[in-house]
Amino acid sequence: TSALVWFRRDLRTYDHAALFHALKAHDQVYCVFVFDSTMLAKLPRSDRRVEFILRAVVEVAEALRRMGGALIILQGDPCDEIPKLAARLGVQAVYANRDYEPAALQRDAAVEGNIRRLAEVEFFLFKDQVIFDCDEVLTQQRTPFSVFTPYKNAWLKRLSPFYLQAYPVERYAAHLAIPDAVLPAPTLSELGFLPADLASLPLPTGMRGARRLFLAFTERLDHYASDRDFPAVNGTSTLSAHLRFGTVSIRQLTGYAQSQSGRGAATWLSELIWRDFYHMILWHHPHVVTQAFKPAMETLVWDDAPDLLAAWQQGKTGYPLVDAAMRQLMHTGFMHNRLRMVTASFLTKDLGVDWRLGERWFAEKLLDFDLAANNGGWQWAASTGCDAQPWFRIFNPVTQSEKFDPQGHFIRRYVPEILSLPNQFIHAPWKMNASQQAACGVLLGRDYPLPVVDHAVARERTLQRFSTVRK
Ligand code: FAD
Repeated sequence: TSALVWFRRDLRTYDHAALFHALKAHDQVYCVFVFDSTMLAKLPRSDRRVEFILRAVVEVAEALRRMGGALIILQGDPCDEIPKLAARLGVQAVYANRDYEPAALQRDAAVEGNIRRLAEVEFFLFKDQVIFDCDEVLTQQRTPFSVFTPYKNAWLKRLSPFYLQAYPVERYAAHLAIPDAVLPAPTLSELGFLPADLASLPLPTGMRGARRLFLAFTERLDHYASDRDFPAVNGTSTLSAHLRFGTVSIRQLTGYAQSQSGRGAATWLSELIWRDFYHMILWHHPHVVTQAFKPAMETLVWDDAPDLLAAWQQGKTGYPLVDAAMRQLMHTGFMHNRLRMVTASFLTKDLGVDWRLGERWFAEKLLDFDLAANNGGWQWAASTGCDAQPWFRIFNPVTQSEKFDPQGHFIRRYVPEILSLPNQFIHAPWKMNASQQAACGVLLGRDYPLPVVDHAVARERTLQRFSTVRK
């Protein structure tokens, strides 16, 4: 019998649930990736993610070729392309790994309907992207968790070596099949895109790139707990884009974290569990895509402040750490976790702007954009989410800056206009008087913005805004 494996956000050829199950059950297995034209049409013509995906797809194609197979690469609407291909190849089943985003669930339901109707082909989905999905970790009352720590405890209790075992794809590689004609991968311009600046970023791509990052991170894991909050330090794994596109296996990373002793490994494991947690939240509460997790928070009235939103987006708020973070996002497609919290808090609680607008900006710019984690992070910062930051806790952008970038190293990397400021003023340049500004050759308001809001005033407004919500 024969089958088709449809690659999506699982761009690797090892420890791959759908590929393994297909190879084990069928003697001829074809593989396909579809560049979804509807999704591509929504993106700007230069997008780092398209380049990241293309490179990963090319590597998957090469790896499958070395294993004796091939990758069919198509462009179009998967709801049409997958059923047509399944019919043309005459396969009995299509295999894929589960994607939990509401839009992906809809797409998969449409594909399933079409393949069953058109070709009487089976459609099988597998858990691959997370360790536990859907209802696998529930409270004792069999309800979903909405608080992280008890979820984490239940998650850890449920974990056994079984869930971390790699799928031995290689064992059945002889079942990979080559279709009659395999076209080479499209170029970026054939996909309708201009080159982005991925090559100049310190982010290696594909399975090989992920492996390199992972190996380098194993050397730093012991220091993760103490270094992870300092954006000027290379303290985290930077594997998020790889986890997003599946160029690395979550089982492999989790297994490694679990096998190591020490606070670094335990803290990192906790972060990987946050990832599962937000996927679980999205699965059980899809309303979070457009609405607050807590319904009462929907009554919040946000400010309509396009100029403040633009200043935040462009990194021109006059708060150096916020600006450095927003420019890091713009220049690299990445933002350090501490800074995601600081900038999200700043937009919602200092500028009074709706978290959905910030979430959308991050979704456009982040290479690792993941609906579940991004929505979870934004709703956490805005205090509208499950297990969120309490609404009366408002980050002070200056204190955060003094604490997490004490020497201003990170700020100076991304905000060169204020490079010459002494450390004493790097976190709050507006405290300099005219002669101090002249001494370091910076005129505030001309060379670097004055603060767009006064934090103390903004804080009071936010407390007022939240106090009207029925708790
Ligand atoms: P590490 O510290 O090395 O952590 C390892 C992995 O654990 C990460 O790669 C990621 O997959 C996962 N992880 C870590 N922290 C979290 C978290 N809080 N929630 C969920 N998963 C986590 N992460 C994304 O992957 N995509 C997003 O779109 C995203 N948007 C965010 C928006 C906001 C407002 C906030 C506060 C956080 C967001 N995060 C998002 C979570 C986190 O900031 C990133 O995962 C992390 O910065 C990625 O860097 P790293 O790979 O070096 O992480």
